[in-house]
Amino acid sequence: MLLNITTTHKPATDLGYLLHKHPDKFQTFDLSVGKAHIFYPEKSEERTTISLLLDIDPIDMVRSARNLGGEGFALGHYVNDRSYVASSFMSVALSKVFPSAMNGRCKDRPELVDVKLPLEVSIASISAPKGGEALIRKFFEPLGYKVGLTRFTLDKKFPEWGDSKYFSLKLTHTITTKELLSHLYVLIPALDNDKHYFVSEDEIEKLLQKGEGWLKDHPAREQIISRYLINLHSLSRRAIERLSEGDEIGITEDELVEKSETEKSETERRRETLHDKRLRIVANKLVESGAERVLDLGCGEGKLIRLLLKEKQFAEIVGMDVSYNILLKAKEKLHFDEMSPRQKERINLFQGSLTYRDKRLEGFDAAAVVEVIEHLDLDRLTAFERVLFEFAGPRTILLTTPNKEFNVMWEKLGGEVMRHGDHRFEWTRKEFADWANNMGGMYNYSVEILPIGDEEENMGAPSQMAIFRYGN
Ligand code: SAH
Repeated sequence: MLLNITTTHKPATDLGYLLHKHPDKFQTFDLSVGKAHIFYPEKSEERTTISLLLDIDPIDMVRSARNLGGEGFALGHYVNDRSYVASSFMSVALSKVFPSAMNGRCKDRPELVDVKLPLEVSIASISAPKGGEALIRKFFEPLGYKVGLTRFTLDKKFPEWGDSKYFSLKLTHTITTKELLSHLYVLIPALDNDKHYFVSEDEIEKLLQKGEGWLKDHPAREQIISRYLINLHSLSRRAIERLSEGDEIGITEDELVEKSETEKSETERRRETLHDKRLRIVANKLVESGAERVLDLGCGEGKLIRLLLKEKQFAEIVGMDVSYNILLKAKEKLHFDEMSPRQKERINLFQGSLTYRDKRLEGFDAAAVVEVIEHLDLDRLTAFERVLFEFAGPRTILLTTPNKEFNVMWEKLGGEVMRHGDHRFEWTRKEFADWANNMGGMYNYSVEILPIGDEEENMGAPSQMAIFRYGN
């Protein structure tokens, strides 16, 4: 992973003083997860470039994974993009390699600190989360950067696979080095969806310190803060409060949630109330089933778990999800850390994938699989079916999925597009019923299908649920 900083300030070699790195030296710094190398690929009075080559060692990363404070996704530690893209590790490297420059100190040439230099930054590869190019621009442009983005294709040999989520990024601005480094320090991890750090109060301090003088007035500040703090709303809220101490900004938590979800489409937001309804129906059906030990598969942020905790009947509630970040979020939203030991004992959250057989899922009374199946690739569906019906095999299974016929009702979708960017397929009522009945026949479950939400003529309800009961 390469980050270059170039200046055409006269003399351009001043960059060496400012960043405290001698242009003739190749220097290496140890990080907890690899090394950062510093060198100058070009140095002249007209134009000087310093390179930061971040060499992340995946093995070190596996070792330091315990810092995450939980059992991680084993394979994910080895198979990931961390060595190749600008990620939260870049912030660590910047602060380790350029500590004085970041704090606005320059021993030999203090007068340079406040000089705005023509600077150009190029980042070989940065991954854009859902907001894509627009999000990168939204973060950098208001600070005055000229943003150049080139998107990589997934594989040049297979152009039909389309674009990847990776871009090379070029930023140009006339600015002090301290400002530049603090912008990069905050904004690179804010774009990174797989941050390596464990977010705690300390992160608020770092964010406020590095954001001093610019974050407060940034039009996307709520989103930057929220993304930097892995969307943990209580921390984000505190950070925003601290940032605006003395100011009258009066932002409510709901507004914040709303703002941090600007990447969600309008239809997604309208669906929230439908989703609450769906979860209530699922929770009621689980109570009715008499289950005591229940699974919430693809539990997401734990909204269903929150409802289930209210029912004493459920002695053990297991939430599994493939996304580690979302589990962290679930823990935060459920206020897990503040729960009594007895309450904590009822819950078990772990990472796992529904397309691999998993012994931890065996022996439960019931399982809920709410709005998850449509996120699975169709060619992994058989694996999922076996994991759920054959190996986990709970007595009751409640599974919900959108009804595709209803999509014409969401204006912007026009009946064509799916409701969510990550949906791999959506089923009509008949497709869903055929699939469910087929499963029932194969694995000896009776099947009942219910609509969720208000039904419209000819298209049914927005969502649909199948209840599978073993052996009757
Ligand atoms: N059931 C939750 C979340 C639905 S969103 C709710 O109703 O609020 C779909 C969830 O499925 C996401 O959290 C996603 O991370 C998870 N998911 C996707 N593929 C998965 C897989 N193979 N195994 C487990 N979870 C998966």
